[in-house]
Amino acid sequence: MSDSIELSEMHWLLAIVQNIDVGVVVLDREYRVDVWNTFMENRSGRLPEEARKKSFFELFPEVDEKWFRRKVENVATLGTPSFTIWEQRPYLLRFKNYQPITGLEDFMYQNTTLFPLKGLDGRIQQICLIIYDVTDVATNRRQLQAANRELQRLSSTDRLTGLFNRGHWEEMLRQDYARHRRYGTNTALIMFDIDHFKKINDTYGHQAGDSVIQQTADIIRQAMRDSDIAGRYGGEEFVVLLPDTDQQGAMTLAERLRQTVEAHEVRHEAHSIRFTISLGVADLSLPTNGYAQLIEWADSALYASKSGGRNQVTLYRH
Ligand code: GH3
Ligand code: MG
Ligand code: MG
Repeated sequence: MSDSIELSEMHWLLAIVQNIDVGVVVLDREYRVDVWNTFMENRSGRLPEEARKKSFFELFPEVDEKWFRRKVENVATLGTPSFTIWEQRPYLLRFKNYQPITGLEDFMYQNTTLFPLKGLDGRIQQICLIIYDVTDVATNRRQLQAANRELQRLSSTDRLTGLFNRGHWEEMLRQDYARHRRYGTNTALIMFDIDHFKKINDTYGHQAGDSVIQQTADIIRQAMRDSDIAGRYGGEEFVVLLPDTDQQGAMTLAERLRQTVEAHEVRHEAHSIRFTISLGVADLSLPTNGYAQLIEWADSALYASKSGGRNQVTLYRH
């Protein structure tokens, strides 16, 4: 009596397994296929009779066999389920993505679940694998992440030069200063301003002035190290933060910047424009009361370079 109820339940349970919109595969302990539902048939292009008692690894050569065996053996030994999400591993089985709306990725992102199936004797004789198609979620998430990265880039950089804008650069300085307070690391700052820039604008036009600003930024990028942090501080004012660098190192870079700019020529329309910069250098080798003080020191050294005749580097002396 109770047997027949179970059998009839089995009947519609099987229909559910067949029609549910996830992949269902049952493997025996030799990794041979026992159950293969319609989802698997449609996505793999193999009929159940083609898959039946075939080796899982022959059916899916893309599966990392060592990794998968270890996972399955854990499930069988511990008797507990195991999950893999697309963020760890985008897919287990390489199925084509048939969702035309997303269109971005040509494979199906998958979450997977493995759980043990016990036989009537209570021993684990089979493993069930469930495959969830999470392509929609994954591509949406990835597009969002890409958009956020781009937004972050746009909001932290200056449009004209591609250098960090003042707000973001100051935030980087704040972080570096915190590191200095904590670990006693040194940091140096170069601040500079283009000499008689108003005259360049007045003589050659605003666009020529823009080119001068852009090419000055290029010169900084070429001269600095990857760990240095350059920003556009104002109209024609620039800052370069040099983490783990002392006065000497900063003075060397500052002098190189000065010479490179002096030797540089900006071609604009028929004109060849030459210009110079005035620089100030400071570092954190003496006690400070905040990161703003480093800016003040570099700025006052820059002012000394201006009043000393421009086109020169001044080191802030305490
Ligand atoms: P000094 O040698 O003392 O620095 O003189 P200066 O003429 O360079 O200094 P000042 O600060 O008087 O002039 C800076 C000018 O830079 C004024 C402003 O119109 C111009 N400027 C600011 N931002 C931009 C920009 O993005 N593009 C252009 N073309 N000009 C800008
Ligand atoms: Mg200027
Ligand atoms: Mg200025």
